[in-house]
Amino acid sequence: MAQQTGISYPTVSKILADLVAAKVVDEQDEEYIGFGRPAKVYQLASEVRAVLGLVIGPVNCELVVSGCDGRIRDESTCRFRTPRRFSTLIKTIGKRLKQMQGEGEEFIGLGVTVPGLIDRETEEIVKSPNIPQLDGKRFGAELEQVIGLPVAVVQCMHGLFLAERMFGEARDLNNFLLLNYNGGLGIAVCNDDQLMYGSNGLAGELGHTTVDVEGPVCGCGNRGCLETFATDKVVAESVSRRLGKNLDISEAAQLHAGGELDIDDILERAVDYLAIGVASAVNIFNPEVVFLHGRFLHLQDRLFDRLCEQVRQRALAATLEQCRIIRVNQRTQESERAGAVAAIVHQLTIRGGKQGVDRCIRGPKIEVHDGAANCFVESSSQARE
Ligand SMILES: [Zn+2]
Repeated sequence: MAQQTGISYPTVSKILADLVAAKVVDEQDEEYIGFGRPAKVYQLASEVRAVLGLVIGPVNCELVVSGCDGRIRDESTCRFRTPRRFSTLIKTIGKRLKQMQGEGEEFIGLGVTVPGLIDRETEEIVKSPNIPQLDGKRFGAELEQVIGLPVAVVQCMHGLFLAERMFGEARDLNNFLLLNYNGGLGIAVCNDDQLMYGSNGLAGELGHTTVDVEGPVCGCGNRGCLETFATDKVVAESVSRRLGKNLDISEAAQLHAGGELDIDDILERAVDYLAIGVASAVNIFNPEVVFLHGRFLHLQDRLFDRLCEQVRQRALAATLEQCRIIRVNQRTQESERAGAVAAIVHQLTIRGGKQGVDRCIRGPKIEVHDGAANCFVESSSQARE
């Protein structure tokens, strides 16, 4: 570690001793690596101590237990309806946690993902359009008081980013971009190994770029924002209008897979607008990789090819040349859980806590996404072949 980081041996030892004392890292048996003294082996704690991850959704909440190495214990998952009142939400979380602690587990922190904007300085949830009971609340601070554990609250996008960064495909990347088009359309940008927050943590709202001055009204109050054209939510709404019944994207995908639904025009329109977003992000941030998180691109294989082709037309050739576009094969839910866990592991492991240096440590590579393969990797160049 001292060699890799350029930090002196005593300092590395001190940092590791702190992390071991905080129970975030386990010291393993010594290992001979061929010469000299045996090396001490450390790993993120997985067995003895656990962290909790909480995904707060508009309808349901999900609470999971995980090792600090990001491995979620599926059998531990507990779901409950999201209470409408803020005070009831806090109480409910406290109660669930007590039940879990009663089963003998020792927890060292709780990570929470919230769909909304969080002010990084004040840690106040500025706006959560679908969970308004959180608006204006310092959720993390209030939870900490009730549960007596460190709490890290991050917006969903930053949770996905941290999971990909610490445990996923982005472990070895320093310049990449993650775009989620599931509900809204947001990006998280890793620039030179650092997540871009902007002046108070609200960076990344690509979805609210105007792409049609007379377009439909967006949730932000503006007209013709990118996210009124290119998200799973919009695709599901268009399909629902056509069929005269309310479907979400999973139900629409099911009907489509059964051959009962011709929605090529809806999908193509969404892809074309998504390509505008991807190309713009590539032009602005010059990433090595763009990870695409969402569902509708998976409805037909040709959609990803179409997207890559359009991005190629719209992005600057020199910028795109070194850039891979990866369509992540995922269930959003699973990635969100990993995001909540990553949020607290990140907070516990960065020196100085919340205000510390904001580089992620890297965990062992695990399956952040579903399926045997971690990521469904398709580079734009492969798609062209
Ligand atoms: Zn908007």
